[in-house]
Amino acid sequence: MSAAGLLCYIIAMTATHHHHHPSKLSRNQSEILACLRKAKEPMSAYAILDRVRKSGISHPPTVYRALNDLMEKGMVHRLQSRSAFIACGHGACDGKFAFAICRDCGKVVEISLSDDDQTALLALAPEEIAPEQVTLEIAGLCAACTPARA
Ligand SMILES: [Zn+2]
Ligand SMILES: [Zn+2]
Repeated sequence: MSAAGLLCYIIAMTATHHHHHPSKLSRNQSEILACLRKAKEPMSAYAILDRVRKSGISHPPTVYRALNDLMEKGMVHRLQSRSAFIACGHGACDGKFAFAICRDCGKVVEISLSDDDQTALLALAPEEIAPEQVTLEIAGLCAACTPARA
């Protein structure tokens, strides 16, 4: 298996459409986005629900719907490996991104992928799967969690 193959896994999913024209966020979307931006770390849908409950959002489907809309806008991304959501590190992006995650403290850094990166990753898909989307998450240790060498 190639190094790229080890580091990433490709999940073919229904194509997601990213809209770039700025559109107004609904109240629920704004609340949830603000919550994720404040947290600066990945949160599960239930952790989000806990935080936004005080603003009157009390049903999981409401949270999921708002998260889906925010993901379509490129303002929130899903960390597949942790079933968690995180605010886009750049405000919003076009869906070409990867994540590096510290396996110790959980720090997440968003990496922007170039068109060439994206194309090369999608090209790893075997012939029987027509690639639509790539999910790349690199696990490792951040500087703070790397033990000092004696
Ligand atoms: Zn992003
Ligand atoms: Zn760390």
